[in-house]
Amino acid sequence: MSDLSRVLRFLDTDPQDSGCDEAMELLHVYAEVLARDEDAAHLYPRVAAHLRACGPCREDLQGLLAAIRTDVDRH
Ligand SMILES: [Zn+2]
Repeated sequence: MSDLSRVLRFLDTDPQDSGCDEAMELLHVYAEVLARDEDAAHLYPRVAAHLRACGPCREDLQGLLAAIRTDVDRH
């Protein structure tokens, strides 16, 4: 097996996965879209793919969602 195919095989886990950095940048937007009951996974498929694979980012999303809902309740 060549080095390249080894790398590609490794990446094959989820080719759409945005990685933590991009997910973090979009996470607050993603949470707001989710909080409006819109299809966040359709708008940000790369972030959705990452959230499926990354527990820590999912936890951050939960925290953001909780904060947004608290905000809405206050108004
Ligand atoms: Zn992550």
